Amino acid sequence: MSINWLRVVFPSIIKLPPPLPLRYSSPSSCSCFSSVVVAMSYDKELTAAKKAASLAARLCQKVQKSLLQSDVQSKNDRSPVTVADYGSQALVSFVLQQEFPAEFSLVAEEDSKDLRKDGAQELVDRITKLVNDSLASDESYSVTLSTEDVLKAIDSGKSEGGSQGRHWVLDPIDGTKGFLRGGQYAIALALLDRGKVVLGVLACPNLPLTPINDQHSPNNEVGCLFFAEVGGGSYMQPLDSSSTVKVQVSGVENPEEASFFESYEAAHSMHDLSSLIAQKLGVKAPPVRIDSQVKYGALSRGDGAIYMRLPHKGYREKIWDHAAGCIVVTEAGGVVMDAAGNPLDFSKGKFLDLDTGIIVTNQKLMPILIKAVRESLEEKASPL
Ligand code: AMP
Ligand code: MG
Repeated sequence: MSINWLRVVFPSIIKLPPPLPLRYSSPSSCSCFSSVVVAMSYDKELTAAKKAASLAARLCQKVQKSLLQSDVQSKNDRSPVTVADYGSQALVSFVLQQEFPAEFSLVAEEDSKDLRKDGAQELVDRITKLVNDSLASDESYSVTLSTEDVLKAIDSGKSEGGSQGRHWVLDPIDGTKGFLRGGQYAIALALLDRGKVVLGVLACPNLPLTPINDQHSPNNEVGCLFFAEVGGGSYMQPLDSSSTVKVQVSGVENPEEASFFESYEAAHSMHDLSSLIAQKLGVKAPPVRIDSQVKYGALSRGDGAIYMRLPHKGYREKIWDHAAGCIVVTEAGGVVMDAAGNPLDFSKGKFLDLDTGIIVTNQKLMPILIKAVRESLEEKASPL
């Protein structure tokens, strides 16, 4: 795969610079980290994270393909997503433990409780086979895991995270509804160091390599891997190749020219509220509704300029739904905040304590977006 066509469709991209062993991270509007520090290099961790997420993406692709080809699959049968979810988590957990045996802590969505119940053996066998097949496709690991190894790997994701030490943060399949529909989903992996997100990887197996709003592109290949390390910028490569390009968020300054992303699922984000906000901003384009943190990836390369996530009252956001996406966008020059304009705090454990929702855009548009969100929330609270 040549990166030249990528340069044509994403004019902001530049070739990957050589990694620096130690770098300064300047204070920025990035909500994933703060203060001037001599930053650590996380190159080794990033390499391992890319490998783990890519292997997991391959596993998920295989399951989704057989799901879509199956005529007998019942609409309500969630077993494919179950198998892929657990398989992805086991694989990522195993790879990271192999690479970093001394210090390992993982905050992840799944645990093996249901898999240890009576009647789950067939499911566990299917997951184990998938994980072993995926490992066999990579020359680094000449091992065959037992079902107990797989269950243990899944259960290694029980850490609570927090403000001390290092913790990997994983959503093995973000956007399970999209996965079942044959649509967008992501494998989202990030690393927290002392409560700050220091690297993130988003594997997006169904995201086109060309901008999603470019219907005339001759290239219809899908499968993108986004990755970012604190202070090092954001990059994208095809899932099946190593040709890397730097990505940057849209530079749009006039909100009328901005298009915005939101959840496909109305249950996950209030579409009526985002529509009101878009109206206030003068946004002309209709919302682009897609599942999962693919939205962060697409925004990081300028496919759209705004992402609004406004969950219904009472919903508590989990760190694995935002950590990787947050650093990919901020390192691409964007800003991620809660609806009141506060940076996201990943140091409090599994949950993000937020004011109302999450908004994402470039630095120029953020103040205008915060204002429109505030006015719309006030209007909604007192409709007269
Ligand atoms: P998205 O595809 O962007 O809508 O986000 C998918 C994520 O939304 C899933 O991984 C869930 O963790 C999360 N989610 C589940 N239920 C809700 C809800 N009621 N409101 C907001 N997000 C939710
Ligand atoms: Mg999720």
